[in-house]
Amino acid sequence: MEEWDFDFGLKNRGRIMELKEKPIYMDYSSTTPTDARVLNAMIPYFVNDFGNPHSSHLYGVEALKAVKLARERVAELIGAASEEIIFTSGATEANNLSLRSCAELLLRQGKNHLITTGIEHKSVLETFKYLSRNGFEISYLKVSEEGLINLADLKKTIKSNTGMVSVIAANNEIGVIQPIEQIASICKERNVLFHTDAVQAVGKIPVNVRKLEVDLLTLSGHKMYGPKGIGALFVSRKLIYKLKPIIFGGDQEFGIRPGTVPTPLCVGLGEACMILMSESEEEAERLYSLRNLFLSRLKSYCPGFKVNGSLKERLPGSLSISFDGVDAEALIITIKNKLAISTGSACTSTSIEPSHVLLEIGLDEEIAESTVRITFGRFTTQTEVEEAVNILSAAVVNMRKLYR
Ligand code: PMP
Repeated sequence: MEEWDFDFGLKNRGRIMELKEKPIYMDYSSTTPTDARVLNAMIPYFVNDFGNPHSSHLYGVEALKAVKLARERVAELIGAASEEIIFTSGATEANNLSLRSCAELLLRQGKNHLITTGIEHKSVLETFKYLSRNGFEISYLKVSEEGLINLADLKKTIKSNTGMVSVIAANNEIGVIQPIEQIASICKERNVLFHTDAVQAVGKIPVNVRKLEVDLLTLSGHKMYGPKGIGALFVSRKLIYKLKPIIFGGDQEFGIRPGTVPTPLCVGLGEACMILMSESEEEAERLYSLRNLFLSRLKSYCPGFKVNGSLKERLPGSLSISFDGVDAEALIITIKNKLAISTGSACTSTSIEPSHVLLEIGLDEEIAESTVRITFGRFTTQTEVEEAVNILSAAVVNMRKLYR
């Protein structure tokens, strides 16, 4: 296996190359680079050990062994059992599978009321929209200015025909963390299934499905330094054999998700989980300090901004900032050769509408349109943070002068 090693990557905590000629990357919520250690682990399964894990000959057996180990690692990271992990093509598919498959099951039990929030990712919101056209009533919980749902509202919204609640664990635009454990406990008490889209939370804050007592949980490889094109759905033991597929084909993944399992991607996700198990705690502290440094410098260099959402219940490396009197799109374009940040979710970046998350937390359209998302990650350095504040504040000060 040595022959595939990218030594240059391993020297620098898994960073594959120095991106010297590129703008500083501060959009880790949109995607993360694949860690070189992850890439190293994957390569043999593209080339030598390429068998179909569903074949019974030696090639297949080798691949199946690798998929099995990867499944165990994903399970271990979130405190699940490996037979509770379904590999999917990503979180979009995992969210669709989770919600649509449960909805079908619930309809058979006469439960056609579902609950979610207005700040979910599009893959959840659009699936609920589809379900609302197909016999379901959907209730959308409001969030406070802090970006948090109200547990009393949730209790009031659950009815006798409520079958499932789905609440995002940590928001991809504002980074606010919901009280998942309390939500799960309310759902359990009322005999309602609970799904959480934990794409942004897994690997950044502790996520343990047993402790949280969630029924279903979604994660995605490319948000955790794994490859793109793979995700996983955790489904609790009591539920997994009751679910039906939403696409049809073979009987892979417990008969719930047909299609050849992509061995190299599974191995990559497993390796990414292993790295997170040993590094995420320390990394969270590092990111938290970087975030504080960023904010304190920004305050002195360019006052006149607001951080959106709770500062306390927040992912360590996430910031959503509205700059008074600045158009966010123009700002991002002005600095695009030096600093890569975004206005919000990459999945809605072609939309000209202001972010639904920012409107839900009560920002008016003008303020929403002056908001940028800045997210730090594994390869963000203190020098980059200092440089980013310089770039951003110079541009903001300049733009304010021009507008005036
Ligand atoms: N949910 C959340 C919270 C996300 O941030 C994303 C990615 N933007 C997704 C789901 C979709 O993930 P994927 O790209 O793996 O389909």
